Amino acid sequence: MASETLETKATLHELDAVLENVHSSQRANRDGAVATYIPELARAEPDAFGLAIATVGGRIHTAGDVEIPFTLQSVSKAFAFCLALELAGRDKVLARVGVEPSGDAFNAIVFDPVTNRPFNPMVNAGAITIAGMLDEIAGDSAFDLMLDRFSQAAGRRLSLDETVYRSEAETGHRNRGIAHLLRASGALTGRTEDAVDLYFRQCSISATATDLARMGATLANMGENPSTGRTAFDLGAVRNTLAVMFTCGMYDYAGHWAYDVGIPAKSGVSGGIVGIVNRQLGIASYSPRLDAKGNSVRGIAAFGMLSDELGLHAFDCTNRGSAFVSTLIDDA
Ligand code: GLU
Repeated sequence: MASETLETKATLHELDAVLENVHSSQRANRDGAVATYIPELARAEPDAFGLAIATVGGRIHTAGDVEIPFTLQSVSKAFAFCLALELAGRDKVLARVGVEPSGDAFNAIVFDPVTNRPFNPMVNAGAITIAGMLDEIAGDSAFDLMLDRFSQAAGRRLSLDETVYRSEAETGHRNRGIAHLLRASGALTGRTEDAVDLYFRQCSISATATDLARMGATLANMGENPSTGRTAFDLGAVRNTLAVMFTCGMYDYAGHWAYDVGIPAKSGVSGGIVGIVNRQLGIASYSPRLDAKGNSVRGIAAFGMLSDELGLHAFDCTNRGSAFVSTLIDDA
């Protein structure tokens, strides 16, 4: 990293102060409820709350519980999609999974009425199809490949939470039902059990808010981890992934999110959210209390505040965001 100027130090200090302020203003927010569909998620500490911002210059800024591990759950869908785009190519992926927001719940059993494809890769039907494609391409090594790329994006070795994985596999009957319908319509061509098994495993990869912010910064940095310099994801795949995260990443709240927060993001039922400010930042929040749509209550509020305070909305018209953030990055 280049030496810090006094001005940069002031800006860095300002970013830490904004993060701290957002964190403390949401700390008392106890709305929502922890997911209970498997016992392991129900046991999460409901008050845990961490915020992390990683820059494409390799810096990390944090507030609160950023080292508590949680399973990625649906957050994994964005990164798995990115990998499938690279390995199978955009056209083959698009032939099997659409890119339209569905407006339905994540686990809805609904397909595009014209094409019969899942609406998009961020709902379970689409994510299971993507897992099936990765399984067809990489076979028994599909999970290792996925874990490897996710780890490269995080900049450290991530691991599978075996207990969560076993629980997902024992209780995931709805997802198995979706997989059979996908097999019947031709969206899945291999063994349904292999597709859902890979899906359960990807949901059960354990990471912290710090890891997730770094994974987001890797997407923001066009697929290259800013801290290690290693390429985790293909550049063209990142572009397509961010576009789908922008329109479909926040369950059936995606439109509202794009309107209010205005950055590509993906959330998961364990309480994590990752957001990407293209070419600038990866942002992560972790707080397990969820709203009725399955998004972290504090996460939504914190991202909204950060977007406003730092001017991060894609259509921000104050110029504050770009000026502020580029100071951080130039001097990193
Ligand atoms: N394992 C969960 C499921 O497929 C993930 C759901 C989510 O995070 O939205 O039911």
